[in-house]
Amino acid sequence: MNTKQFILEFFVVIRTIIRRAFHSILYKRLGTCKMCGRCCRHVYLRNRGDLLSNFDEYLQMLIENEKLKRFQVKGRDAQGYLFFACSMVTSDNRCKDHANRPLMCRAYPDIGMIMYDAVPKDDCGFYFINRFTRRRVSS
Ligand code: SF4
Ligand code: SF4
Repeated sequence: MNTKQFILEFFVVIRTIIRRAFHSILYKRLGTCKMCGRCCRHVYLRNRGDLLSNFDEYLQMLIENEKLKRFQVKGRDAQGYLFFACSMVTSDNRCKDHANRPLMCRAYPDIGMIMYDAVPKDDCGFYFINRFTRRRVSS
């Protein structure tokens, strides 16, 4: 990585941290997990904030993070983004690798999703509200 790329990446990271902090002040997560397993069977991966649409990019991510090997390509949605199913989810919707699950699983559904105009699906047990208006956030 050259100096220009490094500076650019640095500012992207700083911007993301500031936006994330702003969203944590404005929004709050409520609800509980219903153990439906849906979020483990239909997973989107992001690389530096962008949804994956390129299989080679996914392979590159595997080199950088071995834990992502559990996510197997399931298909491509109407927008061309790849979606994955996790090989660690059991038939009764438990995680076979709970103690070592990736950070994205530990945080799901994270308030930071709002940065990408995403919220938990309607049938998920979690939802986001605006702390000030108390209204539910929809996508
Ligand atoms: S989709 Fe929501 S309710 Fe279902 S397992 Fe995931 S977090 Fe829990
Ligand atoms: S690692 Fe566990 S929590 Fe994460 S997607 Fe797979 S089964 Fe779900």
